[in-house]
Formats: sequence, structure tokens, C-alpha cells
Amino acid sequence: MLPGETLHSGAPTFCDECQQTFEPQVMQSAAGWYVGTSCRCGPNTRESGYCPSPEAAAELLRIGTYSRTAPAAPPADLDADAVLTLVIFRC
Ligand SMILES: [Zn+2]
Repeated sequence: MLPGETLHSGAPTFCDECQQTFEPQVMQSAAGWYVGTSCRCGPNTRESGYCPSPEAAAELLRIGTYSRTAPAAPPADLDADAVLTLVIFRC
């Protein structure tokens, strides 16, 4: 992932073309559902990994802890609730 590719890593939060602010939302591509941003010009950034369903992507958006660079496996000393959160986090 390149710097500036997501809002978190410094992508613009505003489109100069259509004067619209980018707000994270549930989006879909051929690869799956994800949290990303778009404006009237089209899709802008992908902020999360791909999810299997729009519900899973919406849950990511609701929790607000999405990332494209989440750890591949939860730490061994994590409790069950935290593991569930991490699974959602990674999708
Ligand atoms: Zn635009």
C-alpha cells in the first residue's frame, strides 16, 4: 500500500473536481465489499480489506477500526471478544 492511498495514510479528504468531502462508506467491487470513499467522480479510496458481505463491511464501518494492514493473526493472549473484533477488523 502506498502512502496517500487511504485517508488514514494521507489521501485527500476532499475532491477538488466535484467539491465533495470523502466520507467512509460501504462500497462494492468485483473483489468484494469494503469500506472506502467515493465522490461524484467515482470510487476514490479503499480503506479496509475485502468483506464477504455488505453486512460485514457495514459492521467494519460501524466499529471504525478498519485497515488494509491489519495483523494476519491475533496475538495469543487475546480474549474471545477481542478475537471476534479482530476477525471483523481484518475482513
Ligand atoms: Zn469528485
